[in-house]
Amino acid sequence: MIRANENYNKLQASYLFSDIAKRVENFQQQNPEIPVIRLGIGDVTRALPQAVIKGFHDGVDEMAVDATFRGYGPEQGYAFLREKIAAHDFQARGADISPDEIFVSDGAKCDSGNFQELFANDIKIAIPDPVYPVYLDTNVMAGRTGEFKNGRYENIVYMECLKENDFLPELPTEKVDLIYLCFPNNPTGSTATKSQLKVWVDYARENRALILFDAAYEAFIRDETLPRSIYEIEGAKEVAVEFRSFSKTAGFTGTRCGFTVVPKACSVFSSTGEKISLHSLWNRRQSTKFNGVSYPVQKATEAVYSEEGQAQVKELIDYYLNNAAIIRKTIASLGFDHVGGDNSPYIWIDGNGRDSWDFFDLLLNKASVVCTPGGGFGRCGNPYIRLSAFNSLENVTLAMERVKAELK
Ligand code: PLP
Repeated sequence: MIRANENYNKLQASYLFSDIAKRVENFQQQNPEIPVIRLGIGDVTRALPQAVIKGFHDGVDEMAVDATFRGYGPEQGYAFLREKIAAHDFQARGADISPDEIFVSDGAKCDSGNFQELFANDIKIAIPDPVYPVYLDTNVMAGRTGEFKNGRYENIVYMECLKENDFLPELPTEKVDLIYLCFPNNPTGSTATKSQLKVWVDYARENRALILFDAAYEAFIRDETLPRSIYEIEGAKEVAVEFRSFSKTAGFTGTRCGFTVVPKACSVFSSTGEKISLHSLWNRRQSTKFNGVSYPVQKATEAVYSEEGQAQVKELIDYYLNNAAIIRKTIASLGFDHVGGDNSPYIWIDGNGRDSWDFFDLLLNKASVVCTPGGGFGRCGNPYIRLSAFNSLENVTLAMERVKAELK
């Protein structure tokens, strides 16, 4: 008898996006003349930069000629791209990461979801609340979380990110082996300083733990004192893996490219305490289960690092950051506490005691603006909503005019 992986039964069904869709549809039926503006989505809206398009075309043209055609490529990514990433994203910022520590992939969702396969099933895991749901759900599927009781998985250590701690996870009181961190954060938009990250690196070193650091939104960091990579922190190379994505950096949500950094100095341990190279394990995992990102996509990604690519990507992010600034200004003028939006595309807004769905309904019914209720990201997200800067300047401006007029 073919039996199911019953860990899937423990997953909590997320009705977040279907509930949002239902409420929006209902509103549209009753108010067909008012176009709603969607500021809830985590997907980019602007076209790929021209330099990227040219790189993409060049890659496709090479595939059209026998002499330059490429078949299977290296599972870890082409050297031309890994070299650019290492030099530009790490070495230029004083982080000593080499090209062979970079694994190019089809995005940070797959990598941050797949990476847990490398660990034993009885490790203790610390996960922020609220959180990007992939970290939690992939560990549920693997059978590592225990049962869901009273709104929480019994074997997970939840790191509550609240106003009281500036939305930064605090060191757990019980010992943990694996720690998920994400900065700039989705959903809260909060960032962490070097000294705040150093606390985690020190903890991981002292406890032989590992940090999985999701830096999918690093390109939004404009404050030069903030670290863009965990490897800017001394000692991180031995205890941290970093996930990166071109989705939000360069508009690649539909094109698909990202990478994971697994330093050779990073270890996991056998049950008898011997060191095992994490790099070798991930390399083995990827070579067995993954066949690389397509050549034209890697050529398109390489173009992100050209001089014009860099300028165009900066302009793209500046556009969204300008939207974020407009949202922040409006929200502040209405007296709502908020975080994010300065080095992040997300603004996390306190509904002043309202349930997040009540706040959602208020914005929809009064201002025809769609947000994401914070409760969808975990229990601690409930009194908040997330607004996203991923929309046109015109829509963001109009949305904020409506919000200001209706909520003041
Ligand atoms: N990590 C975080 C924190 C995200 O918010 C997202 C997408 O929304 C991803 C990873 C997924 O990135 P990718 O498109 O590269 O799979």
